[in-house]
Amino acid sequence: MTYKTIIEPFKIKSVEPIYMSTEKERISFLKKAHNNPFQLNSEEVIIDLLTDSGTSAMSAHQWSGMMQGDEAYAGSQSWRKMEKAINDLTGLEHVLPTHQGRAAERILYTTLGDKGKVFFSNTHFDTTRANIEFSGAEAIDIPISESKDPQLIHPFKGNIDTTLLEILIKKYGPENVGAVILTVTNNSGGGQPVSMSNAKTVSTICRKNKVLFILDCCRIAENSYFIQHRESGYENTSYRKIAQEMFSLADGAIMSAKKDALVNMGGFLAVKDPSLAEACRSLLIITEGFSTYGGLSGRDMEAIAIGLEEVFDDDYLKYRIRSTEYLGEKLHRMGIPIMLPIGGHAVYVDARTLYPHIPVDEYPGQALVCELYLKGGVRSVEVGSVMFGKYDEQHKLIPAPMDLVRLAIPRRVYTQSHIEYVIEVFEKILRDRDKTIGYKITYEPQYLRHFTAHFEPLKKIKSTIKQ
Ligand SMILES: *Cc1c(COP(=O)(O)O)cnc(C)c1O
Repeated sequence: MTYKTIIEPFKIKSVEPIYMSTEKERISFLKKAHNNPFQLNSEEVIIDLLTDSGTSAMSAHQWSGMMQGDEAYAGSQSWRKMEKAINDLTGLEHVLPTHQGRAAERILYTTLGDKGKVFFSNTHFDTTRANIEFSGAEAIDIPISESKDPQLIHPFKGNIDTTLLEILIKKYGPENVGAVILTVTNNSGGGQPVSMSNAKTVSTICRKNKVLFILDCCRIAENSYFIQHRESGYENTSYRKIAQEMFSLADGAIMSAKKDALVNMGGFLAVKDPSLAEACRSLLIITEGFSTYGGLSGRDMEAIAIGLEEVFDDDYLKYRIRSTEYLGEKLHRMGIPIMLPIGGHAVYVDARTLYPHIPVDEYPGQALVCELYLKGGVRSVEVGSVMFGKYDEQHKLIPAPMDLVRLAIPRRVYTQSHIEYVIEVFEKILRDRDKTIGYKITYEPQYLRHFTAHFEPLKKIKSTIKQ
């Protein structure tokens, strides 16, 4: 007999209180934050779904590992544990520890990138793209065309377009390709998985053309879950074995340990080629730290080594993916437009469809983000025209292709009743849908405006037709 209820496969040993703010307080908190939830203090938030990055709860085993942290400058035991955990998982011999994912990206992509070089990916994550472009190289996204339709059901919407990949490698010349990067799961593409067969084809194309194949493996365990449940031939393969098979196809891997290593800070770079490792190690020592700690404390490295084991636990992964799906399914059934199928780490709400009466230049995504906060103290993030919008010469907004709001689920942090509460907040949002109004930007910096922009709600213009 199997039960419908997905219970959290853990007990709670230590708790962090949540301040239960009132709606009245939240009105003033949001005003003080200029209607930008990035500017809120965390204690003003009841349920924080801003990101799944670095927000995981560590296990008792990880906390006890922290006490064993060996803080030696060189040759620390904790480093050797972390290195072994990564060698065993990835099969990649040369491992470089870094303080987070983007540090590993900067080291690898400044080594591989240059003016005239090009990188291809299913979708470059924003820090990946920034590091590649900073090197002077070009970053080109080539996801499969199915990934562009938010309602289309496809089991592996994170796949890269391998036909286009071959054409583009030929067009630019293999000698000009810095690397092909598969991001698993595809974070910027809605947390959608990549299939093993897609990774195999990429590997074949790369080998044939002598081009490097890098895995951005931040969510490799979540991706392995989808392969076991959706790709034929993998039903009886363990999540860890699936991950190992995928790593065996690549020449290197980059990881932000703040995701599937279940820690609050850390990352690494791992490669096969000793001369590439050597070049990267020199940069590591200049900017991150000595090669046996990178930017990490010994205790952090202990926690990463343990987290990389724990994340492949059957019960954990089932709970992780099913609980994200649970939130998505409930919202979908209620009539909230969401991106389908539901990805691994987050649910994306289509705010432009939810609020058809709010024009794109009044930022429907920002309207939903503010509503979620005001109604329930739920913090989310706009992934739409605030984040990606640009202006034309007349200073008219060029909107993003979609106005989404991301509800990212921190790992092992919230229980089902927290999620039920979020669902209830959405019921209220639906009830007040027609009354919800748009926002205008009153201040914005030149770059990455979503972090610090100020917003003001637009006064509702009373209709003169209907009284
Ligand atoms: C988070 C993330 C990164 C960057 O890692 P940081 O630890 O935030 O520097 C790179 N790629 C992907 C896919 C990510 O999700």
